Amino acid sequence: MSTARNVIIIGSGPAGLTAAIYAARASLAPLVIEGELSSTSDQPGGQLMLTTEVENFPGFPTGIMGPELMTNFRDQAERFGTEFITEKVTRVDFSARPFRVYIRDTEYTANSIIVSTGAQSLMLGLPEEESLIGHGLSTCATCDGFFFRNQEIAVVGGGDSAIEEATFLTKFASKVYLIVRRDALRASRIMQDRAIANEKIEIVWNSQITALHGETHLTGATLIDTITKESRPLDVTGVFVAIGHRPNTDLFKGILHMEDSGYLITKPGSSYTDIPGVFACGDVQDHTYRQAITAAGSGCMAAIDCERWLEAEHD
Ligand code: NDP
Repeated sequence: MSTARNVIIIGSGPAGLTAAIYAARASLAPLVIEGELSSTSDQPGGQLMLTTEVENFPGFPTGIMGPELMTNFRDQAERFGTEFITEKVTRVDFSARPFRVYIRDTEYTANSIIVSTGAQSLMLGLPEEESLIGHGLSTCATCDGFFFRNQEIAVVGGGDSAIEEATFLTKFASKVYLIVRRDALRASRIMQDRAIANEKIEIVWNSQITALHGETHLTGATLIDTITKESRPLDVTGVFVAIGHRPNTDLFKGILHMEDSGYLITKPGSSYTDIPGVFACGDVQDHTYRQAITAAGSGCMAAIDCERWLEAEHD
């Protein structure tokens, strides 16, 4: 008799934990391999562990702290019998069933897999980023723009994301500096025109942020002109980094279909990957919405797809 589990869920952000809640309530006794505590990129709970207040997650009219929200998700999954391992998956083998998942030399087998390893925002690599993220430094205008009403802020990047974020932020901020590292934008023409036409946006060409200031909250930044090499202070209370995202899919290279950018490809309107029995949900397969609530919704889809698939396989 096979000792394979019904389902292993890899990753424990809103997508993975919602999948766990649904799978556990469907009596699938899921195992969640949630990531390791020492890591900032693969940590249990995902990107919400790096935020402070979350005001747009429905059901919390007065807001909730990101880490507290993720603890609630986890408690809810645990309540229905989800098992957790606080480690990082090191290798997977989906070439035959049961599927194999490894943490170093230890092998775990399962008849189905839900991949919810998320994505990371690319960062500038400044030492102050770790302490200021969620305290004036942000990677999500939709999440945090509201906190910067009538303030002067900066957005870093010159792609569609940066312009989208900068344009959105002009609803709140009194001024948005768009910090572009060279003398041209990468963004599409229509987005460029939008930024140039917006009188609240000032594009700062050939510039990079070299330092962020503030002890408990961001109070300013230092800019360097990439041509003259001159430094100057930038008087802002918020900095949004919008230089791209990277999905956490290194584990699945050559195994699951993915876009050139690394995002997993799922069958439209579902969580099916190209391998039957392997499902994907959350930011690992979504470069458009990237919200906790959409990730949670897709986690629910993955658990339902998985449950139905297992049932059909069993018949
Ligand atoms: P992109 O890779 O398109 O752009 C990244 C931008 O960040 C570039 O301007 C790049 O500069 C800059 N950058 C990269 N690293 C640094 C750094 N260390 N310091 C300063 N600047 C840096 O990423 P996006 O997230 O903007 O877009 C990803 C994809 O999603 C694109 O295909 C985009 O079209 C799409 N998208 C579409 C939207 C829409 O149509 N509404 C909205 C958002 C995204 P450089 O140009 O010099 O390399």
